Amino acid sequence: MRLSQLFGKTQREIPSEADTTSHQLLLRAGMIMQIAAGVYSYMPLGWRVLKKIENIIREEMDNAGGQELAMPVLQPVELWQQTGRDKSFGKGLFTLLDRRERTLVLGPTHEEVLTHMVSHHVQSYRDLPKLLYQIQTKFRDEPRPRGGLIRVREFIMKDLYSFDVDEDGLDASYQKMIQAYRNIYDRCELPVLLVEADSGAIGGKDSHEFMLVAGSGEDEVIRCDKCDYAANADKAVSAKRQIAPEKPLPLEEVATPGMKTIEELASFLNVPEDHTLKAVFYVADGQVVFAMIRGDLEVNEVKLQRLLKCTDLHMAAEAEVSEAGIAAGYASPMGLKNIKIVADDSVTEGINFVAGGNKPDTHIKNVNYPRDFKADIVADIARAAEGDGCPRCAGTLKSTPGIEIGHVFKLGIFLSTALGANFIDEKGDSRPIIMGCYGIGLGRLLAAVVEHYHDDKGIIWPLSIAPYQVYFCPLYREDANVSEVAEKLYAGLQSAGLEVLFDDREESPGVKFNDADLLGIPLRVTVSPRTLEKNSVEVKWRREKEAALVPVADAAARVKELIQSGKSRK
Ligand SMILES: [Zn+2]
Repeated sequence: MRLSQLFGKTQREIPSEADTTSHQLLLRAGMIMQIAAGVYSYMPLGWRVLKKIENIIREEMDNAGGQELAMPVLQPVELWQQTGRDKSFGKGLFTLLDRRERTLVLGPTHEEVLTHMVSHHVQSYRDLPKLLYQIQTKFRDEPRPRGGLIRVREFIMKDLYSFDVDEDGLDASYQKMIQAYRNIYDRCELPVLLVEADSGAIGGKDSHEFMLVAGSGEDEVIRCDKCDYAANADKAVSAKRQIAPEKPLPLEEVATPGMKTIEELASFLNVPEDHTLKAVFYVADGQVVFAMIRGDLEVNEVKLQRLLKCTDLHMAAEAEVSEAGIAAGYASPMGLKNIKIVADDSVTEGINFVAGGNKPDTHIKNVNYPRDFKADIVADIARAAEGDGCPRCAGTLKSTPGIEIGHVFKLGIFLSTALGANFIDEKGDSRPIIMGCYGIGLGRLLAAVVEHYHDDKGIIWPLSIAPYQVYFCPLYREDANVSEVAEKLYAGLQSAGLEVLFDDREESPGVKFNDADLLGIPLRVTVSPRTLEKNSVEVKWRREKEAALVPVADAAARVKELIQSGKSRK
């Protein structure tokens, strides 16, 4: 490809709208272009990378026994109503009306359609297992698109769905996919962490995410410094600090004028924060819920939502709290009526807590569970945090930001039951098919590679997914000798089967080298009057500082060898 003819220009300025490194670099390199909020076009260079990622994913899915198919983007809303996921997706679901005023969904995922298809094409245990996948565009109306390709509203995704007769089969499919995903990241040269994840609203069992540790990541990974425990912060559990035993003391009302936060209260009364009770009010599907937790801990809303099995959960506004007859800032679990109380298990293990007095400027000391109050549900609803104890060993938990670049999920029978995807087992009984789903967003994976592989000059593509393998860069092409050697070598490199981006522009060496670094093509080959004095061309890996000279005569063969060795290095 001659660079002078390439559609798309590099830009030197850092685009002001770009909020992550990958977003900046992909825009500056002319690989993507934003068309609307969270909606991007891929320019030719970016599209070549995406196609290479797609091919790697396709090969690994096929190797694992997957069968590729295609499903429609336009989906009847009735399928979504059958599973109730029109509600759990809520506003994230793009819908439209056709000319007959029928509602259609722009598919955010394809479990409904595929399970519907499977219900027609699978009858017996002999038809199972099946691993079916598609690579196509999906839509989600994200409230806050960000990070360029990291969080978008239209995206290309590979989804594989597994259909098995029993749990053992599901386990086998799940392990197969985890291995296939490891192969994919390995081929993209991305080091990933497999972390436990929240299994979502539809009540699946196991769920894991593949995380790339990255400063710009919007997920939080909690991991142990001693063992291999790692989980998304939404899901992570920790060993809560033990409170030394004390004798329960009698209740005592104390005046606490103006003390509304835990910090203020603890320092005013001179008690540690773990001897206070924090009250947080939520509205779960329209109902006010009182969540209690030890003052030194935070409520994990994902855990709370899962526990309450509600589709909507948000912090209650002050008006909603006082409407329920509660003094905001001084709420007490004692004497509460008609409000569901959810207590973190830390509350039941501590002793002599300070709690709200349920009237302004008042708290109660020495509140004890269950002597002084009851809870409707006691469970772990705490957010695990850096410095907490590991739930599995004596290690300490660390927190790190990460980008989720893959998600595997044991769905179970929720969807197959809702959509009537059953099979006849060996005994002649009809049973629901057991499902799993496994997703990778291609654009996000591409962006994650850039987040991981770049320097202050630009992108550093791994060879396996680089838009071109060789950046061929003749300098001073007005020199007849350079021009002649360049044209011959360009032809030679191409006939050696190499993917070459030929910088045939009339630009200065500085501009050409800057663009070479920005675009991140793995190997740069330079011809100039100076290299030709030594009858040579210069070769340099993007990720290395040193360059080397190679004789012109066998330059194409040597470059090919280098690319081959670069491939085998990874
Ligand atoms: Zn551990």
